Amino acid sequence: MRRNQRSVKKKRVRVPSGTVWAFVKERPSYSKCGCCGCKLNRKRLTVVEMNTTPKVQKRPERPLPEYCSKCMREQMKRRLRQ
Ligand SMILES: [Zn+2]
Repeated sequence: MRRNQRSVKKKRVRVPSGTVWAFVKERPSYSKCGCCGCKLNRKRLTVVEMNTTPKVQKRPERPLPEYCSKCMREQMKRRLRQ
């Protein structure tokens, strides 16, 4: 792991002989709704996880997967009314 990256943080870890510095890589945060910005019910995956997980597990099986369920319903209503 390369240490001079912004995503790699230095952290003090307790070991039997005292404390040492450990380099911990940050995991990606939760994905957010594209409309209201609320937290979606799934975590963003790392690059390796993205390549190994099947596509069906990466997004919900409904229209507008980038929105939360509330915003998706509002969008569907808006589209029907037009
Ligand atoms: Zn939303």
